[in-house]
Amino acid sequence: MSLTENLIREIDSRRDDLIELTQDLLRIPTLNPPGENYRDICDYLDRRLSTSGFETELIRAHGTPGDCEKYPRWNIVARREGKQKGECVHFNSHIDVVDVGHGWTKDPFGGELVDGRIYGRGACDMKGGLAASIIAAEAFLVVCPDFTGAIEISGTADEESGGYGGVAYLAQKGYFNPKRVHHVIIPEPLNKDRICLGHRGVWWAEVETYGEIAHGSMPFLGDCAIRHMGAVVEEMEKSLFPALAEKRTDMPVVPEGARQSTLNINSIHGGQSEGDADFTGLPSPCVPDSCRMVIDRRFLVEEDIEEVQEEVLQIMKTVEERREDFRYDVRELHRVLPTMTDKKAPVVRTVAKAIEETMGKPAEYVVSPGTYDQKHIDRIGKLDNCIAYGPGILDLAHKPDEYVGVDDMLDSAKVMGRSLIELLARP
Ligand SMILES: [Zn+2]
Repeated sequence: MSLTENLIREIDSRRDDLIELTQDLLRIPTLNPPGENYRDICDYLDRRLSTSGFETELIRAHGTPGDCEKYPRWNIVARREGKQKGECVHFNSHIDVVDVGHGWTKDPFGGELVDGRIYGRGACDMKGGLAASIIAAEAFLVVCPDFTGAIEISGTADEESGGYGGVAYLAQKGYFNPKRVHHVIIPEPLNKDRICLGHRGVWWAEVETYGEIAHGSMPFLGDCAIRHMGAVVEEMEKSLFPALAEKRTDMPVVPEGARQSTLNINSIHGGQSEGDADFTGLPSPCVPDSCRMVIDRRFLVEEDIEEVQEEVLQIMKTVEERREDFRYDVRELHRVLPTMTDKKAPVVRTVAKAIEETMGKPAEYVVSPGTYDQKHIDRIGKLDNCIAYGPGILDLAHKPDEYVGVDDMLDSAKVMGRSLIELLARP
């Protein structure tokens, strides 16, 4: 029997183990925010991976956003050395999950198995992917104990809130140094037959318009900051949104609607803040002297970040020419450059071949509309041989009754296992 046939048999024989592992992970509620139970899930993974022969390290991201004694940012990195020195394949999964929200018919932390699906918050995004990568690695170690190189599995904090207490921290500490790690697979839920090469860029900014406070019965004695902001929004509708819709990309972004530049007006706040829900009084009459808008601009590999900023500044200048006393500021809040791994990169070619062999059809290449931890691996870690590949249906992420299919996890574990054979089972 060939190595691959052995591997497939090993993975199939681990079906119950895979189900139990996924359920165990789902039953540890690692909600972020605030970042609960990170230590518990790292301890669980520590026990599991130590038993499978991995050297483990628990790393707390001291001083990163949200890290405190009540909610420490714990991460785990597990490494198993092969018989000979060689390349390292790293599977990185985030251990945090987003808020449950409303509309569930299943227990979000119950890990219930119904008709081949395991339900729970984080089932597809991405504890199912984490479980599949562990099963793939464990099965590979049984069929190929004398492999060349190393396997790493990490469970990292805070992906859902930017990854600063997780992958960004580890990358700063050298865990994704190209001397240590050579191929990275992030088992995010991109569907089992698709390879995600990267993501669009992000530019968040806060735009503020200024006015002058006065009594609301005599608004002519003041200057209304919200009316100034209204003019900004109007100008965006007139010239910016249509221009963005024209900017199409060659990046294979999914869904199709995101295959262009986009801008979301995330929030607008002007004038008095809203009272607490239990406050029953009336507001006082004032002309607002400030209005703030947060914008979330997603951009393409074909665009420069300077061009993205300049478009917004141009809107402000156009409004300034038309309005008296128009004063404003534009402040950058956050930026991430777009990234797209080359289709010819070794990890892409390897996983594509494994998908074709497992699923009997060619792999599809996609790019994510939003960012994920790949941004830190390539920017801080300087490692660009990185993709997202994992089971689970992307559209179910963050929704009620989130689930992952057991067969999908098994199939993607086979793809991951075949990739390990391809990259590490060399004499
Ligand atoms: Zn995710």
